[in-house]
Amino acid sequence: MARIVMKFGGTSVADLDRIKNVARHVKREVDAGHEVAVVVSAMSGKTNELVGWVQNMPKVAGADHSIYDAREYDAVVASGEQVTSGLLAIALQAMGINARSWQGWQIPIRTDNAHGAARILDIDGEDMIRRMKEGQVAVVAGFQGLGPDNRLATLGRGGSDTSAVAIAAAVKADRCDIYTDVDGVYTTDPRIVPKARRLKKIAFEEMLEMASLGAKVLQVRSVELAMVFKVRTFVRSSFEDPDAPGMGDLLNPPGTLICDEDEIVEQEVVTGIAYAKDEAQISLRRLADRPGVSAAIFGPLAENHINVDMIVQNISEDGSKTDMTFTVPSGDVDKALRVLGENKEKIGYDVVQSESGLVKVSVIGIGMRSHAGVAATAFRALAEKGINIKAITTSEIKISILIDGPYAELAVRTLHSCYGLDKS
Ligand code: ASP
Ligand code: MG
Repeated sequence: MARIVMKFGGTSVADLDRIKNVARHVKREVDAGHEVAVVVSAMSGKTNELVGWVQNMPKVAGADHSIYDAREYDAVVASGEQVTSGLLAIALQAMGINARSWQGWQIPIRTDNAHGAARILDIDGEDMIRRMKEGQVAVVAGFQGLGPDNRLATLGRGGSDTSAVAIAAAVKADRCDIYTDVDGVYTTDPRIVPKARRLKKIAFEEMLEMASLGAKVLQVRSVELAMVFKVRTFVRSSFEDPDAPGMGDLLNPPGTLICDEDEIVEQEVVTGIAYAKDEAQISLRRLADRPGVSAAIFGPLAENHINVDMIVQNISEDGSKTDMTFTVPSGDVDKALRVLGENKEKIGYDVVQSESGLVKVSVIGIGMRSHAGVAATAFRALAEKGINIKAITTSEIKISILIDGPYAELAVRTLHSCYGLDKS
């Protein structure tokens, strides 16, 4: 017997028939004797619709702006999950299962005060554990909690993944199953590389890189939490027949296990290739090479909430002038250039140059910690395809390469095959 948290995303609860199918997945685990808690998203499209209503309301009511109170945004958008939690509880009850819905405030899931993008601070798991032991299935509305002001708070888009992992940690679940519309985590985006393979296992750190770099399977925050609390997390499909052979396998269900690296016996050098579109590069030419220059550049950018990613600085030839290049999301270029312009005197550079529409491709793998030549392999493979590299950054488990946008797909395919990731 195990304790399992099962999370179902928006497409998995898109209509009553799909909710019935979800209930069958839950029933399978309950019938096998496991203790189960379920976390649900809103029906697909629902959250977008609710957000749209919130954004339009001020103007419709006659205001000359679209500013709204973030607490009321939360009151509105949290409602999508309330609906699905109740519906799933009804579906389960109709199948003879003892189930009860729970809103975030009823548990309670305590969050900070950042309405619209709140972080979970604490979950009291005791009552849930007691009920699970009595055989009751808790159906929890994801994406929401209770702020210090005793008002509903939502966790940011995609936040029900984070609800699920946090609840799994709080009730000390053996496993957190994230049911979604794909059947696992792939070596890269299968829409770009048809030869992408589904991974059986991926380490928390690798998944964190994949998620941060654009693989949209899981909210980044949920992977951080899973890593901190060592929650074994499965990504699997809700669209398979709930009673197909192997679906209830406790140790090896179909899907991808995100786990501690110690659990991965045959670690490949490279696990996956990720890419992030719409990057822009900004270069400051002939900067004074003296202490405080970086702070003068990146301080004001940070204060203006501009997210800087890669940073490359040259060592100057004569100790007086140097160049600094960094990347920001394309959408932030104009703002960044304005901030840099305003601070030109203080920073002390000669000219600023920028280019949008770039792509960052990244090679990810824990195995590269102990292998030499991983980066050289990428550079050689890209060179053979005539792809020019604009900037490079590396970490222990990642090499990121900035290239021109039109080469993105070719680069991803090239890297995927040069590390032997293509399925045969
Ligand atoms: N329904 C919310 C959203 O669309 C939360 C989630 O689905 O994870 O962002
Ligand atoms: Mg999601």
